[in-house]
Amino acid sequence: MSSEEEPGSVDTAQVIEDCRRYVNAGVATLHKFMGAEAVEWRAEGSTIWDSEGREYLDLLAGFGTLALGHRPPAVVAAVKDQLGRMPLASRVLFNKQVTDLAAALAELLPGEIEKSFFCHSGAEAVEGAIKLARIHTGRPGIIAAQGGYHGKTMGALSASGRDVYSKPFAPLMPGVTHVPFGDAEALASAADGQTAAVILEPIQGEAGVIVPPDDYLPKAREVCDKAGALLILDEVQTGFGRTGAMFACERSGVAPDIICLAKALGGGVMPLGAFASTPKIWAALEENPYIHSSTLGGNPLACAAGLAALSEIQRLDLPARAKQLGEHALARLRELQGAHPEIIADVRGRGLLIGIQFADSDIAGLVIAGLVQRRVIAAYTLNNPEVIRVEPALTIPEDALDRGLDAFEESVAQTKELVAGLSE
Ligand code: PMP
Repeated sequence: MSSEEEPGSVDTAQVIEDCRRYVNAGVATLHKFMGAEAVEWRAEGSTIWDSEGREYLDLLAGFGTLALGHRPPAVVAAVKDQLGRMPLASRVLFNKQVTDLAAALAELLPGEIEKSFFCHSGAEAVEGAIKLARIHTGRPGIIAAQGGYHGKTMGALSASGRDVYSKPFAPLMPGVTHVPFGDAEALASAADGQTAAVILEPIQGEAGVIVPPDDYLPKAREVCDKAGALLILDEVQTGFGRTGAMFACERSGVAPDIICLAKALGGGVMPLGAFASTPKIWAALEENPYIHSSTLGGNPLACAAGLAALSEIQRLDLPARAKQLGEHALARLRELQGAHPEIIADVRGRGLLIGIQFADSDIAGLVIAGLVQRRVIAAYTLNNPEVIRVEPALTIPEDALDRGLDAFEESVAQTKELVAGLSE
């Protein structure tokens, strides 16, 4: 299909059939089950239009990727400019887009972190972080949290904590131990002289938006220091303002040794991930700079997007906006929970990373279908299908967020009626 083709001429049934036949039949079934039988065509800010011209409100923001919304003008302009000059690198000459982005990140990142390696995804960032921890410490062990989500490549999957995704691919990477999230004692008993790193999300996203006790990260830091292990914080989802601070770890005053980034880093325009660390730890990658490499990772197009994204996130003070809008949304959703305690078990989160826990995953599925009916895009969390996330762009206008929450209320009430009808 050419880009000039009129959206009205898109044959939705054909796209769904092609998805079933050539992409993944399960995906087609799942989208159909949610009532999402439409083809997305165009998007701007928190609005998506399908090929029939129908409008949707996006409360998912690409699983947290679109901190700046769809097609943020400054990022699009930076990418267009770079596209007109040099989208991909020679990999032999120096590249200013890479160095500018790495320098800008060094300004922003917590603690003494100042060196970055760029890749395309969160999973790749985690792979790099695990490799760096192993080469720096010379130890094999990785301690991760149950329910944690770090991506689906082999190393990241091994660190992730949900059997349904990992078991079919066994044997996984050796040396990984999982402990309950939020339990510092469990970390302390698992860490020993063989531990290269503890890897944690500061707030677990895909586990269902789990906020740990306030002293958890400081204690995790202590455990690592005592064991001579590194602390890897996976801020792929929580980074860049999502939780009301530039990085979620800032709230607890803890700086990791290695940080993993992706999603919002690409400004919602380009795929871009990174892992970053201190000069001392990075030295292990400098003796042989090709010990970890990627042909297309850190390409100028993605880095130009990243640089523009960082500058926009700061210019618009999106961490503050996420905090303020998040408090408003949490208050409204807690009221909703109070009105329907038999189907909403919990509402929790920080900033604009909010999880609504339903009594079971079928109810959550019905609520999502009700939202799609009202043309609101939402999804459950990948490691906990009982939890629907409210994770819009940090730039979402307040009245749009309220419209989304109205739809949420309507869909919950509708689901409650439906469930009551079924049990009569
Ligand atoms: N880490 C965290 C905390 C994530 O939330 C995700 C994705 N949801 C990943 C890693 C994996 O990122 P990607 O899907 O880009 O590989």
